[in-house]
Amino acid sequence: YCKLLSFRPANANSQEQTGAATSHLSLADDLREAIAQQQLQLYFQPQIDIDAGSVCGVEALCRWFHCEYGMIPPDKFITLAESVGIITDLDLWVLRASCQQLLQWRSKGLSIPAISVNLSSVNLRYPALPELISQVLQESQLTTDDVIIEITESGFVEHEPIVQDVINKLHANGIQLSVDDFGIGYSNLSRLQTLPVSQLKLDRSLIEHIETSGIARSISEAALQIGKSMKLQVVAEGVESEKQYQILKALGFHVAQGYLFSAPLNVSQFELWVLSH
Ligand code: C2E
Ligand code: MG
Ligand code: MG
Ligand code: MG
Repeated sequence: YCKLLSFRPANANSQEQTGAATSHLSLADDLREAIAQQQLQLYFQPQIDIDAGSVCGVEALCRWFHCEYGMIPPDKFITLAESVGIITDLDLWVLRASCQQLLQWRSKGLSIPAISVNLSSVNLRYPALPELISQVLQESQLTTDDVIIEITESGFVEHEPIVQDVINKLHANGIQLSVDDFGIGYSNLSRLQTLPVSQLKLDRSLIEHIETSGIARSISEAALQIGKSMKLQVVAEGVESEKQYQILKALGFHVAQGYLFSAPLNVSQFELWVLSH
């Protein structure tokens, strides 16, 4: 794959603008190829049930190791995939690979209750998406209890009927939805009560200041109470210190995720981590 890429004619554009556009396109081509050739990798970050102190789930996070440019962070290539129309392929690849991984862990006797997978809000404009997601679950013989789909809060805020339809269809198919990065979107709180979601993930920028800022703590507590009153599971993400964890525990958060427990790990590292915890 890398050798093939190096045969691509060098970018001999004298005009810088064309050069930038070309490299954007060629990176998009590389990404298209990376998806098709399974050159993307999943990393896994454990989620901890705060009451039980045990692993209650795992979030799959996508990584792209480009042969020339090295590791490209998801914030960069997800935006690229969205802009060139390949985010559906990417997210479905991630979902499929995540389901297979979960099955493999279970066949090895590792008990992982569920896997969380991120879905770009761009995909909420794709009417066929709910069926495709259900198909992937059926093919892997997993149930809707095994998978949680995370969509950022700002993605849910869209009022367009098509987005609403897709969300409703996902829900009707039993798919568990999580509101990712909650608390930094537009926080249309009245909209939240009509959303068919089962989990809130509080954004790490709030957790980051929970020790030092009374305001961050109040907002986190308010978000927790909103979630609880809607019978949602509330997750704190980006937990980095023991002190933060103790505060979250005292406040009554359900689940914690962050560097305090583990950074995202590759498959073998993750398996070792689970076995030793
Ligand atoms: P996210 O879904 O909110 O994922 C959490 C991000 O926070 C991850 O960054 C994770 O590595 C990082 N993180 C976890 N714990 C800590 C912590 O304690 N401290 C700090 N500072 N960071 C922590 P990552 O892996 O770079 O992913 C960034 C974003 O890219 C994700 O945010 C998600 O929105 C998106 N993404 C990743 N994989 C996929 C994918 O397969 N599909 C889609 N559509 N988006 C993805
Ligand atoms: Mg996420
Ligand atoms: Mg998040
Ligand atoms: Mg994020």
